[in-house]
Amino acid sequence: MRIGAIEAGGTKFVCGIGNENGDILDRISFPTEEPEKTTQQAADYFKDKGIEALGIGSFGPLDLDTHSPTYGHVTTTPKPGWANYDLLGHLQKELDVPTGFDTDVNAAAFGEAKWGAAHGLDSCVYYTVGTGIGVGVYTGGQRVHGLVHPEGGHVPVRRHPDDEFAGTCPYHSDCLEGMAAGPALGKRWGQGGDTLPADHPAWEIEAHYLAEALTGTILLLSPKKVILGGGVMHQQQLFPLIREKVAKNLNGYVASSVLDDLDSYIVPPGLGDNAGLAGSLALGIEALKHG
Ligand code: ZN
Repeated sequence: MRIGAIEAGGTKFVCGIGNENGDILDRISFPTEEPEKTTQQAADYFKDKGIEALGIGSFGPLDLDTHSPTYGHVTTTPKPGWANYDLLGHLQKELDVPTGFDTDVNAAAFGEAKWGAAHGLDSCVYYTVGTGIGVGVYTGGQRVHGLVHPEGGHVPVRRHPDDEFAGTCPYHSDCLEGMAAGPALGKRWGQGGDTLPADHPAWEIEAHYLAEALTGTILLLSPKKVILGGGVMHQQQLFPLIREKVAKNLNGYVASSVLDDLDSYIVPPGLGDNAGLAGSLALGIEALKHG
């Protein structure tokens, strides 16, 4: 089986070929530029590869309602040229194979449930913490779609008592993304997160906001695994800080012995930095099965 996968990010597109075991056999990546050019570059990569199906996990917001005339479009993004762009339609016209389509983070949650940290579980939540923050939700063996799709990067969070930073979200200022995504780290400290030492106070504040969001997620969705990926989560020192704060927030209220071992519950992606692409591969496999 040869399945195409696209992790369509706001900064870069990653395209790859994989099989039914989740193995990525080949991959390329290129910067996300104007939509026609970028989509054509992706289509050209797949053209002579003999793929049987395609999975696309994309940045959003997206129209995921299969009954909508604009199904498969990127909708209201501020990214120049991409608002109302028919991403799915352009790729289907070029490639003409069964195609699965979802948010990049729903795809990553799906891939982690299939092959990664949530393997064998029927629910998990996947956070990506990078240039933005996105949240994918998989529950009861299904990826969650509702009015649109979860937008968990923008949930309100209680302020850290020592933090007076205004936040960077153009819509909400001090939502989770506004306080804890990469640009917030950069603006708050005057340097990128990747240059801050592991013992810098930045990480305690960063962990506070992520723990706020995770606590709400655990209480609301009761996921069997919480997976934290994305560039900012390469800072491994965040994990113990986040677990400690989540435990403090929950204060023993949720009755599950799983939460006695947060080291195994709040974890990095089992698929590492392949989570997004492998998730898109899983969407492609599903599309092939369902025609
Ligand atoms: Zn926001």
